[in-house]
Amino acid sequence: MNTKRLTEQDIDEAAAILREGGLVGIPTETVYGLGANGLNEEAVAHIFEAKGRPQDNPLILHIPSADHLERYCKEIPLTAYQLAEAYWPGPLTMILKRKPIVPDVVTAGLDTVGMRCPSHPVCHAILEAADVPVAAPSGNTSGRPSPTTAAHMWEDMDGKIDAIVDGGPCSVGVESTIIDLTETPARLLRPGGITLEQLEAVLGEVAVDPAVTRLMGAGEKPKAPGMKYRHYAPKAPVTVVTGDPKKSAEYIAAHAAPGDGIICFDEFAPLFGSHYVEQLGPAGDKGEQARHIFDALRFFDHTPVTSIWAQCPDASGIGLAISNRLNKAAGFHIIEV
Ligand code: AMP
Ligand code: MG
Repeated sequence: MNTKRLTEQDIDEAAAILREGGLVGIPTETVYGLGANGLNEEAVAHIFEAKGRPQDNPLILHIPSADHLERYCKEIPLTAYQLAEAYWPGPLTMILKRKPIVPDVVTAGLDTVGMRCPSHPVCHAILEAADVPVAAPSGNTSGRPSPTTAAHMWEDMDGKIDAIVDGGPCSVGVESTIIDLTETPARLLRPGGITLEQLEAVLGEVAVDPAVTRLMGAGEKPKAPGMKYRHYAPKAPVTVVTGDPKKSAEYIAAHAAPGDGIICFDEFAPLFGSHYVEQLGPAGDKGEQARHIFDALRFFDHTPVTSIWAQCPDASGIGLAISNRLNKAAGFHIIEV
């Protein structure tokens, strides 16, 4: 298949491809998504094929505004509208009870569906023009780091999908926060661009799913099926070092073998002159770190490194999402200093 290169001038073409059952790589503020018409079972099945995604890992439905929720969801709690008012359009996915119009292939047979209203202007325009809900997971090959630039999408999906729309680098850089509103208290299933603190400001108490902070044991079933897979992983194994940034940098400098890859905060790059280094951003700027995390993980696949060390921020704010992605990339191989 010849994958078409589209730009933000080509909104109508992207929308037409989606409506007619094709697959399009779409920029969002979180990561690039691999979109299809969420009401077209065959088109949605092609997403799983293109990504090599396990069939039991459901997709998120993307809509242009909260007004569309009732088309696809039932028994919608007031909290959904309160969250939408506060954080939509934006990097927040809500798990709600689904209506029968949503095909099983989207939800992997669950009786719930993930709903999101993205803020990226190009994505929003495509959703408006397509006039169908767009089912989309992240646009990476399953298991690889999520794409945060159009170039990443080309790396994984060239020849496998109909088109990729270049909307520039993603401004958040990690996937949406997933909150399950079918339980009381609401449960955080995946940390992301909307922080736990922001959710608590609207909802009060929020439960945090154990899959957010630790490896699931054999036989344990996380509520977001995607959280059970090894994820975001570069080809070389990753060791995460947490704790005070200066101490973690010194620990890595003392233990890294020559030729190991290093992911570090900007301030500490001079310690690692002889290594392949990816800078996450300043130790004090988690927004910048979130924007760089997936690009950093992808970078090493283009190098000969056989082992990667990564500094990791603390878990407050968007640090919870960054540390979750790093820890998953590391298979929860974490050293605390
Ligand atoms: P991705 O955006 O590629 O990370 O994929 C969507 C994520 O949303 C996956 O990790 C799924 O497990 C999660 N998800 C989608 N729908 C549901 C649902 N109904 N219940 C729980 N998690 C969901
Ligand atoms: Mg994904």
